[in-house]
Amino acid sequence: MSTVSDNLTRLRLRIADCAKSAGRRADDVGLVAVTKTFPREVVSLAVEAGQLNFGENRVQEAETKIPYFRGNAGLQWHLVGHLQSNKARRAAELFDVVHSVDSEKVARRLSEAAAALDRTIAVLIQVDLGEEATKWGTPRSETMRLAETCSELPGLRLDGLMTIPPFFDDPERTRPFFRELREIKDDLESAHPGVLGSRHLSMGMSHDFEIAIEEGATLVRIGTAIFGERTRA
Ligand SMILES: *Cc1c(COP(=O)(O)O)cnc(C)c1O
Repeated sequence: MSTVSDNLTRLRLRIADCAKSAGRRADDVGLVAVTKTFPREVVSLAVEAGQLNFGENRVQEAETKIPYFRGNAGLQWHLVGHLQSNKARRAAELFDVVHSVDSEKVARRLSEAAAALDRTIAVLIQVDLGEEATKWGTPRSETMRLAETCSELPGLRLDGLMTIPPFFDDPERTRPFFRELREIKDDLESAHPGVLGSRHLSMGMSHDFEIAIEEGATLVRIGTAIFGERTRA
């Protein structure tokens, strides 16, 4: 048994316990194992431990790993980092889910690329909820319009929302951000019942996933708690 396998076992238990205490079902919360900076040998350890969903934050780095796992049926690759529109084509080839759609431009490029490849990419809209403007994400006020655009574009399936709150030492302080993302999802669903299929809330990382699950996360994106500390971001 590798450390990665032990860490995954422990983490899955924590996720299940947390979901249950929040009155939710354990299998309502999916785990995306974020492998950025770790080599494919480390990814393999998680695959051997039965992990199916993996996240990378850079297209270029993902190119060195994802093709290696083509023979492993059932794996899903999630792009969790910012996507530049000039990398949309490559992203559409590599990834099954893109968590970071934050502009109409990138949505259109991804749509064109997916349609040309005859693929459907699941997309989440990354919403910027920080008080000070962070680098990425669409503002709350523009989320509805971007969701409508995504839901109309060929090759894309709008599958929910994602956010990265500011970092706080005390994870409890992330709670209002997770709650706000859930409110935005509820607003979308009441404005367009069923149409947007926005079933996912992608929120929560190693240090705050339990708060995110309490607030309704359906996908948590976790790296450090599985693979250990990274030497770079
Ligand atoms: C790195 C990363 C994660 C995982 O973070 P950990 O703190 O290592 O769990 C989650 N989401 C995104 C967007 C990331 O870039």
